[in-house]
Amino acid sequence: MKPKGLTLYACDLCGGTALAEVPSSNHYSGGWPIHVCRGCGFVQVALRRSPEAIQKSWADELYRADDKARLSDKTYTARMPAVHARQVFAADFLAEAVPLKGKRVVDIGAGEGDFLAMLQGPGYGARGFAIEPSAANCRLLKAAGIEAFHGTIEAYMASGAKRRFDVATLVWTLENCQSASGVLKAAAAILEDGGHALVATGSRILVPFKKPLQYYLGANMDIHPFHFSINCLRGLLAVAGFETTHANRYIDSDYLTVVGRKAAPGTNIPWHGDDPDKVLGFFERWHRETQDHHKDA
Ligand SMILES: [Zn+2]
Repeated sequence: MKPKGLTLYACDLCGGTALAEVPSSNHYSGGWPIHVCRGCGFVQVALRRSPEAIQKSWADELYRADDKARLSDKTYTARMPAVHARQVFAADFLAEAVPLKGKRVVDIGAGEGDFLAMLQGPGYGARGFAIEPSAANCRLLKAAGIEAFHGTIEAYMASGAKRRFDVATLVWTLENCQSASGVLKAAAAILEDGGHALVATGSRILVPFKKPLQYYLGANMDIHPFHFSINCLRGLLAVAGFETTHANRYIDSDYLTVVGRKAAPGTNIPWHGDDPDKVLGFFERWHRETQDHHKDA
């Protein structure tokens, strides 16, 4: 349900304020639309609550404080087979692009720590560090022997921490941030020159529809405000100072996974987004497909 008091944010990629509502999105979200930027084609939930309200929503609904059990057993856990599978995919994709043995890897939004534990394990051999805003998840990370900073990447930067890393990973995290471009810029700031960033996401705009729209859009739209195509994800990496070096074959995969290399400061990295009319047409077709064939799924 669309809450009151939402703020209309400018495009998180190009800063533009000409935003086109996707009419069909309202059908699935209780009238809380997604927007397409008229300037660059980036798809985003431009009407969002304050960062504080969104953080509270995360704490109340997903990161339930529980000292004993895995806190999200009732809602979500990285131990679900589908989540484990996508983490293995992301780890192998990263390791093929960037040999990880001995590398310092920071996982931004490390969650329950399963991904970092994998990267630290046999076959990968990385040295992991977690940045994680949930206190309950930080307890799990500590129990798993993973060093963690409790807070957001923005709080990590503000803490004055001087630690630098070879690789930053954002695994099904960037779509949930309050500013995707802000988080990638922060990731660039804590990487060594020539370091790499991995972004893995389930968003795949402008490729064949993978699920009915009612599975894709729903309540709490601003908890998942960003929806990536390859071009807009390349753009987000570029404005943060990364040249995209690797992308998976996203056309027939459930995942969109890219690796970017931090360029020398001041490098102009060209990027182009998407044609906004094509993106609007894509959602119109997706809506029609859903209504014609999958609305009762
Ligand atoms: Zn834009």
